[in-house]
Amino acid sequence: MAGIYVHLPFCPYLCPYCDFAKWPFRRSQARRYVDALLREIEGAPALQGETVFLGGGTPNALPVEDLLAVLDAVRRRFSVAAGAEVSVEVNPDAGSFDGFAAYVAHGVTRFSVGVQSFDADELRTLGRRHSPADIAACVAAARAAGARSIGIDLIFAVPGQTVASWRRSLAQALALGIDHLSCYGLTVEQGTPYAAWQAREPAAFQDSDAEAELYAAAIETLEHEGFEHYEISNFARPGRRSAHNWNYWQNGEYLGLGVSAASFLAGERSVATKSLETYCAALEAGHEVPRERERLSGAAAAGEAIMLLLRTAEGVAVEPFNQRYGVDILSSYRPAIDRLADAGLIIASERRIALTPRGRFLANDVCAEFIAPGTRSEGRP
Ligand code: SF4
Repeated sequence: MAGIYVHLPFCPYLCPYCDFAKWPFRRSQARRYVDALLREIEGAPALQGETVFLGGGTPNALPVEDLLAVLDAVRRRFSVAAGAEVSVEVNPDAGSFDGFAAYVAHGVTRFSVGVQSFDADELRTLGRRHSPADIAACVAAARAAGARSIGIDLIFAVPGQTVASWRRSLAQALALGIDHLSCYGLTVEQGTPYAAWQAREPAAFQDSDAEAELYAAAIETLEHEGFEHYEISNFARPGRRSAHNWNYWQNGEYLGLGVSAASFLAGERSVATKSLETYCAALEAGHEVPRERERLSGAAAAGEAIMLLLRTAEGVAVEPFNQRYGVDILSSYRPAIDRLADAGLIIASERRIALTPRGRFLANDVCAEFIAPGTRSEGRP
């Protein structure tokens, strides 16, 4: 059993803050990529797919028949059970919802809508071209198609955003009756147009106090509305957690298909080439997709697992963790645990270690305390 991730890397336009593997949609290039991807799927190990996630990029930028061909190939190859969680990321660009009913007829159960903001100025700042009306139309189309679950992604700490405008975005998301919300703090990635903007005009960007205030507003608003804050950036109505992402945070196995996709199978982590040309050419020549590979064991594997588990509301359950990784977490990490508990960033008992609300905001710093030096690597979702 493994989660199956498929990367569909084409977008109708490129956002200036984005550092995912993505390319502007061109019909011929997308056709070539889908052909290569179908070959990769056919030749992939015959795992049982527990969940499926089609991410991107913008999957609904693909012609409907291409997306359906990918979906059918995945469900066939990985014997995905009827009713299993099958998610697709979509962007709410006007005119791109026509295929939603067909997606559901071919097994999609869950739509994850890349909204980012409901504020017209913030959408412009983020380089997004959809309007608040397009978002409502997209959610309505997903619902009419028969989606079992609909989630929305939002970004906070956007330049120019205020607590008031952020609260309005949260309220508008809730008014759409969705059952899952992901709230990500804006990160400025090297090499993006945003990085150049920040270098020119650092004062345009929010500082960490402002970011903390926005994050706290999200937690307060969503918990008040009955959402579970089940992972640092993720909130769900009871029973509506993302099963696919949950598997990542439990350090479960997953197979990534497509350019730049990451896999974790039988203790080996690998990341596919980030070059679209290299990816397509390898499959056209009947070769394997070039991948960077690494195998973690011992303290490195345990540290990675702690880092993932601490992201969740449940944190690390001590006994099951000790059995799976062959370590005694409380004694092996005693100095770090004491330091973090004294600083009010974690709570640690004989049974469980979990982040405090303050620890959630500083999660990267907390997790760094558990990572063996030199073992953190790229490609983790
Ligand atoms: S739509 Fe998503 S993947 Fe595409 S450029 Fe924008 S942020 Fe990146």
